[in-house]
Amino acid sequence: LKKLIGIDLGGTSVKFAVLSFDGEIQYKWRIETNINNDGKNIVPSIIESIKENLEQYRITSNDILGIGMGSPGAINGKEGTVIGAYNLGWKTLQRVKEQIESAIGIPFYIDNDANVAALGELWKGAGEGDTDVIFVTLGTGIGGGVIVQGNLVHGASAAGELGHIIVDPDGYVCTCGNQGCLETVASATGIVRLAKDLAKEFKGDSSLKLIIDEGSNITSKMVFEQAKDDELARIVIDKFSYYLGLASGNIVNILNPNTIVIGGGVSAAGEMLIENVEKYFLKYTFPPLRSTTKLKLAKLGNEAGVIGAAWLVRKSISDIKQD
Ligand SMILES: [Zn+2]
Repeated sequence: LKKLIGIDLGGTSVKFAVLSFDGEIQYKWRIETNINNDGKNIVPSIIESIKENLEQYRITSNDILGIGMGSPGAINGKEGTVIGAYNLGWKTLQRVKEQIESAIGIPFYIDNDANVAALGELWKGAGEGDTDVIFVTLGTGIGGGVIVQGNLVHGASAAGELGHIIVDPDGYVCTCGNQGCLETVASATGIVRLAKDLAKEFKGDSSLKLIIDEGSNITSKMVFEQAKDDELARIVIDKFSYYLGLASGNIVNILNPNTIVIGGGVSAAGEMLIENVEKYFLKYTFPPLRSTTKLKLAKLGNEAGVIGAAWLVRKSISDIKQD
């Protein structure tokens, strides 16, 4: 069986992996993302790195079924193009597929990075064995991927903007221009914002409040760590859990997935996060569906991207057979 190549293109590094047909990572490496010069060097450096490493591991292009990639920005999967990936310097249309296929001669597949991470969790992670999975990634912002019956949902242009589900119509203004998006209160930055605001009205003893009042920086990680014995931290986590539980309940009412997988930096808080969110999640889920969708922590961490990218290649084969 042939091997697969998965690429996770990010603003600071490009991660690569050679995987077996069954999705086991055999080799992996990474290079820095060179965003200088409007990101013009990114694709050439990816091509060079693949060539170098295949040679080093004595793999020929005949051994490879295809190359998959997750990328930031707006993706046209059919054309294999990316536009508006500002953290890469890519403002204008980039013909990624065309460049890579003509240089390496291996079929190339691409999708949005959050979508690809969702596929990774579906194939080898918290959603393994499921058909319907929603992936929510809680980082600086909030991203997401929606998989229904094994297929990513792309909608008319870009489905799965879970970070912009409105959970508080009178809430904070979001970067998108709307008010009260999930991202404003449940991302890492959102949690810090909640903590600062709730500290203003909090009257009790709290070391978290002391740090905030001193004007020192706090992080979402600190809030979770202090929740065991700090009343303010507990209130912040409860508020965060309410918003994420509300959004998750509404997602279930529309799509009733097997699993909602929660990943990204904030998910490092672990099972404690799931337990807190679950309370509200169950409350806002249509009662007959409450026992049918599970909330789980992501399992693959940083490897979700390369594994999901490899799945793009695998998936394209079964899609051709079905056509
Ligand atoms: Zn928004």
